[in-house]
Amino acid sequence: MKVIIAGAGVGGLAVARLLAEGGVNCTVLEKSADAESMRYAWHDDVSPEVFNECGLDLPQGSFPKKDWTFITPDGKARGMHEERPDMSVMRPALNKMMADAAERAGAKLMFGVTVQSPIIRDRRIEGVQANGREMRADMVIDSLGVNSPLKANLPENINITRHREDEVFTVFRAFYKKNFSAPEAKYTNKVYMKHLGEPGISWAIQDGEEVDVLIGRVGKMSRPTLENALKHMKDENPTIGDEIVTGGGIYTIPVRFPAPRMVADGYALIGDCAYMTIPMLGSGIASSLRAANMLSDVILNAVRAGADEKKATSLSNLWNYQTLFFNKYADHCGVDVMKRGVLGLKDSTLSLILASKVLNNKQICDLAKGRLLRPTFGEMVKMAAGAGIRALSLLPMAFIMKRAQKAAKLAASIPQKYEEESAARWARKLEKMVTGE
Ligand SMILES: Cc1cc2nc3c(=O)[nH]c(=O)nc-3n(C[C@H](O)[C@H](O)[C@H](O)COP(=O)(O)OP(=O)(O)OC[C@H]3O[C@@H](n4cnc5c(N)ncnc54)[C@H](O)[C@@H]3O)c2cc1C
Repeated sequence: MKVIIAGAGVGGLAVARLLAEGGVNCTVLEKSADAESMRYAWHDDVSPEVFNECGLDLPQGSFPKKDWTFITPDGKARGMHEERPDMSVMRPALNKMMADAAERAGAKLMFGVTVQSPIIRDRRIEGVQANGREMRADMVIDSLGVNSPLKANLPENINITRHREDEVFTVFRAFYKKNFSAPEAKYTNKVYMKHLGEPGISWAIQDGEEVDVLIGRVGKMSRPTLENALKHMKDENPTIGDEIVTGGGIYTIPVRFPAPRMVADGYALIGDCAYMTIPMLGSGIASSLRAANMLSDVILNAVRAGADEKKATSLSNLWNYQTLFFNKYADHCGVDVMKRGVLGLKDSTLSLILASKVLNNKQICDLAKGRLLRPTFGEMVKMAAGAGIRALSLLPMAFIMKRAQKAAKLAASIPQKYEEESAARWARKLEKMVTGE
C-alpha cells in the first residue's frame, strides 16, 4: 500500500512512522527546506503522558510549565496550581525527533515540496498535485494545518468539514529580550482573559532571559487592535523589553470543535486541519499524536484482516478512525460550547466567576486541561453560596455548562458504523448544538 502524507505536521510525521513500521510505503511532502526549518522555533505545552503512550521520548530540553495566573477583564488575578503540570516542549527538538523516527521506520521525507490540490476520481482521492506534478497513492493523509490547500480544493460532494472565519484564532507571538532593569514580575505566567474586553486572550510569560508574549483574537485581528493590545501588555508588564529574539509573526490556530467529517474515500485529516486543538489547553500536539495511533491502527488492522488497499482506505473503514477520535475527545465539543458562551458573557460576569472562589482549584485545572465540568443546577447553587455570591448571577454560566454537557454527549453518540444518512444527520445536529445555528 502507498500513502502520501501531505505536510510534516506533528500528527503527519507520527502517522508516517507508524504506518511505515507496519510495512506501508509512506511519502511525506513538506514545503519547508528541511527538518530544522520546520515551524515554530519555540516551546509549547504538552501533557507528558502522551509521549509514553505513543512510545516516544520526551524531546530534549523539555521543562515543566509554571502555574498560570488568570487576569479577569476587570484586572483581578486568579491563580491555579497543577499537581502534575504539562511539559514545555521545544518544537525544533520535537520536529527533529518525529522526522528522524519517521525516516528510521522507512518513510520517505521530501522537503521543499508544496502540495497544491487533490487528484480525485469518483469521489475518491487518488493523489496530489505538488510542485506542479502529479503524485499518486492509495490514500492521502492531510496534515497541512488549518489552512490546508488540499482540503480547500475538495469539491462539496466529498463532504469534508470546513471552518468559518470566526472559527480561527489569529495570534501574534514573540519572545522579547527581558528588561532586567524592571522589577521582577509578581506572576510568571499571566493570562489575560477577554483582554481589553476583546474576544480572545493575551499572555506574558517570564521565560529566563526572555518574555514570551502572545496576543490572540478570535477571527481576524486588525493592526490597530494588535498594537493597542501590545502597548497595554508592555505597560502592565515592564519586563517585556524592546527586542524580539524569536517569533514575531502572525499565526492561525483553529478554535472550533473537531471536524464531524474528517474522512473520505482515500483521504483523512489529522491535526489542525481536523481542528484537533484547543488554544491554551496544550491539546494540539497531544491530540494529533493520539490521532496518529488511531489512524494507523485502523488502516493496519484492516490490512491484517485481509482488506485490500482500496477497502482499507475506504470511507467506511476510515470512519472507524473518526469514531475513535470522537470517543476520546467528545469533551472538546463541550469545551467549544464553553468558549463560545464565555466570549458572549458580560465582562463583569466572567470577572465574578473567575475572581470569586465559585470554582475551586481542581475545577480551574480541569477546565484548563479541556475537561468539562458537570455540576447539576443544585450543585451550582451550593457553589455560589460557598463563594458568597448570588446564585442568580451564575445562571448564564449554568446554561452554558448544561449546553456544553449536551454537546459532549451528542459528540460521543457518533454512529459507530458509517452510513451516509446517519453520519450526515449526526454531523448536522452536532454543528447546530455547538454553534447554536
Ligand atoms: C502560537 C501558537 C501556540 C501554540 N501552542 C500550543 C501548545 O502550547 N500546545 C499544543 O499542543 N499546541 C500548541 N499549538 C498548536 C500546535 O502547533 C498544533 O496543534 C500542532 O502543531 C498540530 O498542527 P499540525 O501538525 O496539524 O499543523 P502545522 O503545525 O500547521 O503543520 C503543518 C505542516 O504542513 C506544512 N505545509 C503547510 N502547507 C503546505 C503545503 N501547501 N505543502 C507542503 N507543506 C505544507 C507546514 O510547513 C507544516 O510543517 C500552538 C500553535 C501556535 C500557532
